[in-house]
Amino acid sequence: MIYPNSYRVGMSSLGFQLVYALLNKNDTYVCERFFLPEKGDSLLSVESGRELTQFPLIFISVSFEHDYLHIVEILSQGGISPLAKDREDRISGRMPLVICGGVATFMNPAPLAPFVDLFLIGEAEPFLEKVTDYLVREFKEGKRLEILHGVSMQYEGCYAPALYTPVYNDGHLTEHRAARELPSRIKKVFLDRCSKAAHSQLLSPLAEFSDLFLTELGRGCSRGCRFCAAGFIYRPPRLWDGDAVVAGIAERSGDISRVGLLGMEMADTAELDILSVYLGESGCALSFSSLRADRLSPSLLDLLAKSNLKSVAIAPDGCSERLRLVINKGLDERDIVRAAERLVTAGIYKLKIYLMIGLPTETEEDLNEAIQLVEKIKEKIDPIGRLRGRLCEIMISINCFTPKPWTPFQFHPFGVSEQLPRGEYRNREEVVGELKKRLNILKKGFRIYSNVHVNHDKPDNVLFQAVLARGDRKLADVLLEMVKYGIPWKQAMKRKGLTAEQYALCGFDESDYFPWSIIDHSIKQSYLWREYKKGFEAKKSEPCDTLECRKCGVCHG
Ligand code: SF4
Repeated sequence: MIYPNSYRVGMSSLGFQLVYALLNKNDTYVCERFFLPEKGDSLLSVESGRELTQFPLIFISVSFEHDYLHIVEILSQGGISPLAKDREDRISGRMPLVICGGVATFMNPAPLAPFVDLFLIGEAEPFLEKVTDYLVREFKEGKRLEILHGVSMQYEGCYAPALYTPVYNDGHLTEHRAARELPSRIKKVFLDRCSKAAHSQLLSPLAEFSDLFLTELGRGCSRGCRFCAAGFIYRPPRLWDGDAVVAGIAERSGDISRVGLLGMEMADTAELDILSVYLGESGCALSFSSLRADRLSPSLLDLLAKSNLKSVAIAPDGCSERLRLVINKGLDERDIVRAAERLVTAGIYKLKIYLMIGLPTETEEDLNEAIQLVEKIKEKIDPIGRLRGRLCEIMISINCFTPKPWTPFQFHPFGVSEQLPRGEYRNREEVVGELKKRLNILKKGFRIYSNVHVNHDKPDNVLFQAVLARGDRKLADVLLEMVKYGIPWKQAMKRKGLTAEQYALCGFDESDYFPWSIIDHSIKQSYLWREYKKGFEAKKSEPCDTLECRKCGVCHG
């Protein structure tokens, strides 16, 4: 099994750990891990130091677009033809079956499709073991395409790109064509309930969260922030019941006393209170990377104070009150300032604030409001810091907004404020230049404050991420070219006659067929379009109520 990034990053991925544990449950086969080697290191399995060509079934777990290139690098370095069409019909270590899953693939598998024999679309628990058993049974005797056909017919969530042909009309993708007996779209598989919440399987001193036992509170998110892919592709939002969460936490070994909870955004205050009390009574410190500014109950703050946690992030995301309505964040300035004050009172010394630029409708006025927001936060937290003899640092992280598939903003061009008509586009240099200008306004604005630090991503790099997020199969050639010749993405795209404009800088409309339309999340495109339009009117949408609601098409379908 490959995680296409370093050991440190891979071992911090709960999804990767979960799949690794599921694959090793069966006594008849063994799963070993590969990570992107450090410069000069060989590509060998962690467990037994074997080469990649010793494994006839290769599973890849991919979460982020920036790891796509690493997949091509790892397969090439491991002596395996990266393109699936170059691998022989007979499956062997040198000609393995490459199976790929992970959140990036159920958002949009297209740019990776030419490298992959089989995508497993969805959450692993309900189908990974069954599909793997099938493949293990069949691979020695069967031929590649027959096995892929068989598994696709038998199990939901199986997408074999070789069995589906993208059809273009006038340069526009219009459909994926497949044999009649195959499903025309690939239904995402999801876990509807669990008796034990997913949790860390292995803690390693070399991992990013080395002494932190991660446990899920649920999956998905009910808030419907219009930019956030996780809030849509993990629908319906599910909150595990308290017993399942406690059962998950109870699996930690006795010497682990720091528990990280995932999914804090969704949990309601009463549940967080129960968990806070449980963790406090079990002598556990609590940790989380980010939490909703409107979810800070007294018992949570109390546990936080006892947990010795020094750094917490809050995510206004939109720079202004109006933009937070555009993105449906559901947080107002008062919530954010009050949360900062309460967190610092509870002992936090470093407050991270996440902001995005390049959101639909954004103007310089919105950016100025972000600067004023930080000023208001400082007015509240600096006196607390002075009293205890140490001011709280504010770390502002500014990211360029990337329009992601399956979100209402999937119709929106990268880095452009206004909606563009279908097919109209903005020039790359112009858009990147404007984003840099916005970054500079914010950086200059924050510079006047002491103890405020800024980090940000590079608009040009994020643009390539947006291209990959929205891309089709043609981008596989770009990735191959980049690995083969070590050239930057812009040069590789030019060589292949492709442009960032066609993928990420143009307008789309409700009727468009996208590379990711092959996946079926049960979300109606008309719903996403309505939400997109509502964003432009800065209108709020209510959080999911899965008992009643039928709005997007996922529940009660
Ligand atoms: S149908 Fe309603 S409650 Fe269910 S996921 Fe869609 S918006 Fe949320």
